[in-house]
Amino acid sequence: MKLRVLITDHLPEKSFEIFKKEGVDFDYRPGISYEEILDIVGKYDGIITRSRTPVTKELLERGKKLKVVGRAGVGVDSIDIEEASKRGILVVNTAGGNRISVAELTIGHMIACVRGIPYGHRGIIEGKWHKKALFGHELYKKNLGIIGLGRIGSEVARRALAFGMNLFAYDPYIPESKAEKLNVKLLKKLDDLLEISDIITIHTPLTDETRGMISHREFEKMKDGVVILNIARGGIIDHEALFEAVRNGKVGAFALDVYPEEPPEDFPLNDFPFMSLTPHIGANTQEAMENVASMVVTDVINALRGREVRSPVNFPLQESAATPFVKAYKKLAERMGKLFPALFGLKTPAIEIELLGNARNLGDIVRAYFLKGLLSQITDAHVNEINAPYLAKEKGIELIIKTGDGLHNFKNIIIVKGFNGGKNKIAGSVFDEKYYRILNIKDFWFEIEPRGELLFFETIDMPGIIGEIGYKIASRGYNISDLRYFTRRKFGLGILKLDRKPGRDLIEELKGLSYITNVAYVSL
Ligand code: NAD
Repeated sequence: MKLRVLITDHLPEKSFEIFKKEGVDFDYRPGISYEEILDIVGKYDGIITRSRTPVTKELLERGKKLKVVGRAGVGVDSIDIEEASKRGILVVNTAGGNRISVAELTIGHMIACVRGIPYGHRGIIEGKWHKKALFGHELYKKNLGIIGLGRIGSEVARRALAFGMNLFAYDPYIPESKAEKLNVKLLKKLDDLLEISDIITIHTPLTDETRGMISHREFEKMKDGVVILNIARGGIIDHEALFEAVRNGKVGAFALDVYPEEPPEDFPLNDFPFMSLTPHIGANTQEAMENVASMVVTDVINALRGREVRSPVNFPLQESAATPFVKAYKKLAERMGKLFPALFGLKTPAIEIELLGNARNLGDIVRAYFLKGLLSQITDAHVNEINAPYLAKEKGIELIIKTGDGLHNFKNIIIVKGFNGGKNKIAGSVFDEKYYRILNIKDFWFEIEPRGELLFFETIDMPGIIGEIGYKIASRGYNISDLRYFTRRKFGLGILKLDRKPGRDLIEELKGLSYITNVAYVSL
């Protein structure tokens, strides 16, 4: 029987060639109603949709032959992933197909805002000649600070280099070698980037760490007249702080494609000449659409033919098949993956995992779940245990797994270290076949359940530290449910469990204390 795919939303016709070449039948029914899909979906092996089509439990039930759902785009809110997984149906999407379009829009905005092009344009239409008001800047020889040197940030760097700009980046999760290849100087701290840049452009995902990452304190650190762009995700820049910085002259120009609320209800800076605004159109190009279409068609066919897929969203296997020990190891590995970048960053993203004792056969599972946890901290792409190793490779993260006999009295133990050795180490174990615990950080031995809101701080050891930190946390209304503090040769490591997620203000206050050398937070 020939394979058949139903396409329920608009796809550029170019992508149909792939079906023809592969000998897969397809029915192109853009705009088909949900009820009609329910009637006919039983005939198909695969379905390709956009966000318009809800892929519900009901639809998946009716799709008796379905093996794959392809989402032409990134968001999968419209798809019942859990139901698909239960039924063994693979879901694929198309992360990364729009990087060039978004990078080009960024460059467009950069020039538009520093020269006031939209303001001049509007003036002409309104019969006003704003020649004197529009005294702008060149990009040539300016310092460009890129926050987030991933797919899009890298494409922006390549293009900015052609303009003769000096390139800097802050991205704690990429190797220095990646930045070097792009002629970008990788900076260790966000503050260093804020201080040195004439123009700042943001290309990070929206995560706990990046939400509100650019606020009042960060604007204060920037050069007077700085230019700032957010073409990534609304919410990374605190807009109240941005508007204040524009009004007080700190920001000389800015551009936005994304907003905390979309569409924004009202936009206060109506008359500011040096701004460029677009309604979240980063990926709206013919070419991005075509890329996305050929990616989704290729992945759907690969899935149907049993070949490797590029961008899986779910893991359609029965979770119940795993033993409690394996399930506990999955959780432990994933949580250690989340902890690792929070505690140590990924400056040398080469990681070694030792699996000892009766965990030694779990290499593939630990690799997949550790990378899933790690990537979930640094990207907002859909990361799962299937695509995590692929995404990690794309980001230049190298992971090797060694196995061996047990250590001390532990029946099983997992030890994760940065390749550069030193004290960047975490260890964990599963007790009684099901209880997973973290046992060691930076060579301090203890036992803690990796769950909840965990705050870590490193200190130069001296008397009074616990009292002062405890007081500062309590006076902001947080409850501490667990507290550990270890010291060795003037170095102290503290671990606190809080009753809720710590605000940026608390973290900044702790970072500002003279004896604190590092603060990290992770929600597990
Ligand atoms: P990516 O995952 O390839 O790159 C993101 C980079 O940010 C990674 O290198 C990661 O290490 C880095 N990063 C993560 N946390 C960081 C932090 N706290 N500080 C500094 N760097 C950090 O993603 P991408 O495909 O390049 O997309 C980047 C952003 O662009 C995403 O937010 C995405 O949603 C957005 N986007 C916007 C549009 C649009 O229409 N405007 C279209 C597509 C993507």
